[in-house]
Amino acid sequence: MLDHPKESAFETFSGNRGLDQEEPPIFEIGRTDTSGVDIEEPAHLEPRLGALERKEPIGLPGLSEPEAMRHYVRLSRKNYSIDAGLYPLGSCTMKHNPRLNEKVARLAGFADLHPLQPQSTAQGALALMEELSRWLLTLTGMSAVALSPKAGAHGELCGLMAIEAALEARGEAATRKVVLIPQSAHGTNPASAALLGFQPRVIEAGADGVVSEEAVARALGPDVAAIMLTNPNTCGLFERNIVAIARRVHEAGGYFYCDGANFNAIAGVARPGDLGVDAMHLNLHKTFSTPHGGGGPGSGPVVFSERLAPFAPVPFLLREGEALRLVEHGDGAQSFGRLTAFHGQFGTFVRALAYILSHGADGLAQASRDAVLSANYLRAALRDVMTQPFGDRLCMHEVLFDDSFLEGTGVATLDFAKAMIDEGYHPMTIYFPLVVHGAMLIEPTESESKRSLDLFVATLRDLIASAKRGETRRFTEAPRYAPRRRLDEAAAARKPVLRWSAG
Ligand SMILES: *Cc1c(COP(=O)(O)O)cnc(C)c1O
Repeated sequence: MLDHPKESAFETFSGNRGLDQEEPPIFEIGRTDTSGVDIEEPAHLEPRLGALERKEPIGLPGLSEPEAMRHYVRLSRKNYSIDAGLYPLGSCTMKHNPRLNEKVARLAGFADLHPLQPQSTAQGALALMEELSRWLLTLTGMSAVALSPKAGAHGELCGLMAIEAALEARGEAATRKVVLIPQSAHGTNPASAALLGFQPRVIEAGADGVVSEEAVARALGPDVAAIMLTNPNTCGLFERNIVAIARRVHEAGGYFYCDGANFNAIAGVARPGDLGVDAMHLNLHKTFSTPHGGGGPGSGPVVFSERLAPFAPVPFLLREGEALRLVEHGDGAQSFGRLTAFHGQFGTFVRALAYILSHGADGLAQASRDAVLSANYLRAALRDVMTQPFGDRLCMHEVLFDDSFLEGTGVATLDFAKAMIDEGYHPMTIYFPLVVHGAMLIEPTESESKRSLDLFVATLRDLIASAKRGETRRFTEAPRYAPRRRLDEAAAARKPVLRWSAG
């Protein structure tokens, strides 16, 4: 639903703004009674579909090739992307997708594979998956990996299913139904737990923004299946009690699931296996630079500790002498089973491995350190004008501000974010994590140059000064220069209109 359908700063006859063209839905520009191509009338055929035969025209919009081309190119230009500008969306690690990855993924030997072709003809692809697995296991210090999950949230489900299978094997699946989750967790954590019939139990973080050993100890009991902890957490802070927390959870008979979405802060620097983690997903589309956010597909491999490895899903890779085999079923007697068709997002594996090999072990550690440096650079450059919820201390790969600095200005976090759009920036993550009032979570990643960060800082400082001067309309009326202004995002999510109709 549009607030002001075509309202923009400068009304034009065409609806275009300079070279930024308006583009209606394809059904509104193409007539359904015409076709963009000349197809000869088919010779009469005896219908063989019985009652299933189509009775009416299909109703597709007919466009000429240039019209169709323009439609999609114009739409593509409305996408904000990491290729267009700084994308500081906290917790999402919107880093540059190196073109080398894309080039390698397009090699015919990779791009033309079919998931059903005989394994003997795809040994190179399996070797690539084995090599990627080796890197992921080395970086995390874990024992086994499932490559098949197709996103971080899917990885959470995978990890929890392995935990459920392990509890089943111990005869405790019926009694251990609680999963401990800190309040700052990503919404997918409680959702994944609930999907499997676990009950999420919230644990509070301390005033310092991290979970204490005591808080976990208090929440533990014979009913606890696992803890799900994000490290570094979504406040951009390292959970420094993690080793003690893992010990407590294990002593109480539970498993430790780590949400590894923020691995970009520690890859090559710290190994989750050393911290006591039993299962963790890696978002290849975050840490390992494969495209995401409209450009997907995602990929969320899960690494397992020795304790959970036997319960990992099929398929998994097995080396038999020279040959590699994808074990599809059977051999993994305790495996919880199959999570997806086939074996995951192969094209993403190619890109992630290209990223890993082009960086090398030292380069990966450098990337993590630079990501942390970039976030702290922003923190230091903005801390005199913005407010941090947990005191003035070093952050990891993302820096969290709250809205106290806007107090009394009449500008809300949402308005501030919308004003950033007018300045050509995708807003940072806002109102997440929920533990912080008016949260603004900024993750610049290691891809940004100092020049780019400086311009971002200068822009935010200008906006803040403007808010303090009482120029409220710059915020409450923003975005003024976007193709659409304020959308009813809640209605769009809750009541999506997925079908075009003339009415
Ligand atoms: C991105 C993210 C997820 C979910 O990952 P998807 O790949 O989007 O499913 C989970 N937890 C955190 C902290 C994240 O940032």
